Amino acid sequence: MFIENLELTKQQKEKQEEFKAFVDSEVVPVAAHIDQEECVPNSVLQKIMEKGYWGAPIPAAYDGANMDYITYGLWNEEIGRGCANLRNIIGVQGMVTSSILRWGSQEQKQYWLPRMSSGELMAAFAITESQIGSDIKNLQTKAQRVGEEYVITGQKNWITFAQRADVFLVFAQCEGQAVALLVERNTPGLTILPITGMLGFKGSMLAELRFEECRVPTDNLVGNVGFGLSLVANNGLTHGRYSTAWGAVGLAQACLNASLDYVMDRKQFDHYLKEHQLIQQMIADMVTNTIAARHLCFRAGQLWDKNEVTATFATSLAKYFSSVHAFKAAKDAVQIHGANGCSRNYPVERYMRDAKIMEVVEGSTQIQQVLIAQDAFHLLKN
Ligand SMILES: Cc1cc2nc3c(=O)[nH]c(=O)nc-3n(C[C@H](O)[C@H](O)[C@H](O)COP(=O)(O)OP(=O)(O)OC[C@H]3O[C@@H](n4cnc5c(N)ncnc54)[C@H](O)[C@@H]3O)c2cc1C
Repeated sequence: MFIENLELTKQQKEKQEEFKAFVDSEVVPVAAHIDQEECVPNSVLQKIMEKGYWGAPIPAAYDGANMDYITYGLWNEEIGRGCANLRNIIGVQGMVTSSILRWGSQEQKQYWLPRMSSGELMAAFAITESQIGSDIKNLQTKAQRVGEEYVITGQKNWITFAQRADVFLVFAQCEGQAVALLVERNTPGLTILPITGMLGFKGSMLAELRFEECRVPTDNLVGNVGFGLSLVANNGLTHGRYSTAWGAVGLAQACLNASLDYVMDRKQFDHYLKEHQLIQQMIADMVTNTIAARHLCFRAGQLWDKNEVTATFATSLAKYFSSVHAFKAAKDAVQIHGANGCSRNYPVERYMRDAKIMEVVEGSTQIQQVLIAQDAFHLLKN
């Protein structure tokens, strides 16, 4: 629809069309239900599994779909256009698989990744605690090494998909050094308490995790002792930011699509809404910033595909811009729809609630601003 040239390869364009068709037929029709019921039906998870999309960014050596970063971004945009909850759940799975891929041992890769690729195992990423959010260096959950086990004691909060996930990548402090440990759902000492009634991402099936002397084998340590935050968590969070950034573009696109339909259909003061200039102003901002956000995401993807060091910086730029824009686009889409926009008869109220969450997760808007400024001092000075 747009006059955009993302310079996609033929294969990337074909995948984009495939994702669009899948989302339109299988995801858009169930998105409101997922939001209202605060639950993702198994049938939808199964359909994603059948397409092989759970392992989207995992290499073929581990039975993954082997998508390059751009293709993975396009997948996140499309699923984000259809359902912010599914995009979030898929993003979290990617945060765990990318952490294992980058920092796991050969044995861990061979054991976990094929099962995660197929969707047989679903994963959650557990870093946030009740008292510690952005300030992850001060995590309070403890892991103590006792013989060939780590004993975990502490708590994690707001963990996406924890109501359902089979395995958690849990971050803790071990004698002052950060560790990342894989904890299976049925491990004694782990209690999972569902969280409901969130503003947005209501279908992301969040839960609180409580660890009371929860024991896992030392084989479940991902990376070395001391790698937990600076390397493993940062890798996962950067991956999550990339997914969220593209998902926010998809959500903004959904706001634009809904708004264009509405302004061409509804008349006030004997004119279609599209003829009123103040409505045009909101549409113009929505179009411009959605294109700009998509280009920032695309640039980040290009840099990841080339393994450039500036990819992390580009990902922060994309996440910051896309999530702030998605919320503005959703707020304007509600405004354009008037009272209808405030009702469940139209999807834009859901878009607005979900968009707000994107400014909080994977490093809030303020944290991205801090990271961008810090990188700018190094990267952009002459
Ligand atoms: C729907 C949902 C799903 C989530 N899923 C997960 C998950 O799967 N796994 C997980 O581990 N966590 C998850 N989270 C938690 C999320 O990552 C945290 O909410 C986020 O990191 C922010 O932490 P906080 O909420 O404690 O806010 P705080 O860190 O307490 O921040 C509060 C406010 O202060 C601002 N602030 C903080 N520090 C600074 C600073 N230095 N400078 C300026 N401003 C600052 C923040 O931007 C924010 O506006 C989820 C949260 C939600 C809402």
